[in-house]
Order: sequence, then C-alpha cells, then structure tokens
Amino acid sequence: MQVLRFEKDGHAFWGRLSGDMIETLPGAPWEQGNVSGEFAVPRDSVTLLTPVTPRKILAIGRNYRAHAEEMGHDIPLEPLVFFKSPESLLADGGTVLFPRESERVDYEGELAFVIGKRGRRIPEEKAMEYVFGYLPALDITARDLQKKDGQWWRAKGFDTFCPVGPYIETEVSPSDLLLETFVNGERRQSSRTSLMIFPIPRLIAHISAAMTLEPGDIILTGTPEGIGPLKEGETVEVRIQGVGTVRAVTAREAVQGETRPFLTQDL
Ligand code: MG
Repeated sequence: MQVLRFEKDGHAFWGRLSGDMIETLPGAPWEQGNVSGEFAVPRDSVTLLTPVTPRKILAIGRNYRAHAEEMGHDIPLEPLVFFKSPESLLADGGTVLFPRESERVDYEGELAFVIGKRGRRIPEEKAMEYVFGYLPALDITARDLQKKDGQWWRAKGFDTFCPVGPYIETEVSPSDLLLETFVNGERRQSSRTSLMIFPIPRLIAHISAAMTLEPGDIILTGTPEGIGPLKEGETVEVRIQGVGTVRAVTAREAVQGETRPFLTQDL
C-alpha cells in the first residue's frame, strides 16, 4: 500500500494510491486501521502534501561507515541521534530555501521510516512491529552552521530542510535497498541500506529507551558517502529501490524572509 495525503478544495485528506486514482481514507491509517476508501479522485487532479504530520522527526548521523570516514569522523559506538524540526518538512517537488545565514547547504539522501504504533523501551526483536512504512527523504544540512554551532538545531532544522517522498510504502523490506541521490540528473550517492552501521531495530530500541515513539513520528536513518553542496537552481532527487523518489529544487531565501510554503503539514 502507498499512503499519502492530498489537498482538495482547501481541505487535507489521507488516501492510498490505486493505479492512477487515489482512494481517500477517513484518517491516518495508523489511527483508523485498514478501512476501505470513501471516494476516489484522479491522482493528477489534486495537490499532494507531505504523507506524514509527525510530532517529532529524528535523524541519525554517521550511520554509514564510508560517510563517517569521508567526514573525518570515527565510527560511532552507538547511534548518533538528533532532531529535525517538524517545520523542516517539505512536500515532494517543493523548494529548499537556502537561508542567508549559510554559505554551504548540502544534500544527504536517506531512507526514512514512519512509526505506526506507540511504544517506549521497545526491544530490538519486536521493533519492526512498530514500523508503519518507508519513504525517501533528504536531510538537508547547512554544513558551515553545523560545524560552527555545535548543536545542530538550525543546521538541520531550517524551514524546508526535510523534503520527503510523496507517499509511504508499506510493503517493502528495508534491509538491503539501493539508495541513490542525483543532482541535476548526475548520480552523486549510490549505496545500499544493508551498509547501515545500526539497522532499524537497533535505532528504534535506542531511541525508545529515551522517549516514547508516537504513531506518525518519522526517523531518518542516515546518509551514505557522496554528500556535497547544492547550488541555487539545482534539482536534487533521492531514489530508493522499492520505496520511491523524492525531488526538490533549490532557491535562495528572499531577502525579507518568507515562511515555508503552505500546504505541507498545515492543513
Ligand atoms: Mg543525515
């Protein structure tokens, strides 16, 4: 099943893909169960929104050996976890805005997963029961501010710094998927999710030991090697085998500042 949200006549709806159509659902599927659709609309007649409205976004740093090495870091002994702001979410096809505070904004292509069930201190052997599905994501990073600030709150948290794919794929095994990132059509990252240092069950056990994971929360699992800067006007795309593709374009934030585009998680 491919779960998504869309906007129609000023209202947001949950839905699932059915060929070229979207069947609407009465709510987020992790809240409503797998009930049948209420009505159907053609996919190309509506605007797709982010398919998640999380209370929190967590992400993992240095979860691929070759990426830790390219950044000059040691291999971590336990997962390196940080938050991204829910404000950073950006729907597929949206515009990543380069803030005036940064001179270097990088792409990081990542597999993300969505929590489907509430849990605390989830054991590794039960962790996959808490995963609803998967989507491609970009952990956009102001690299200069990440180094300067110490804390990563803004380097990873600016508005528009978390583009996510148009839908959540629920029927895929995440353990060994090809992950590729393209900038203006040129491949810059190519790796496999089997190369994660800490696989998904370990991440869930580690994070939920500290805090309750809520349905709809999302976790980005880290980027492989090949990260690099984006220029204004470039298009960046992350493709994950069996999961989907997310695309974003880039632009410099207006001098007067602007809020992130409406219609991501606002409705
Ligand atoms: Mg990352």
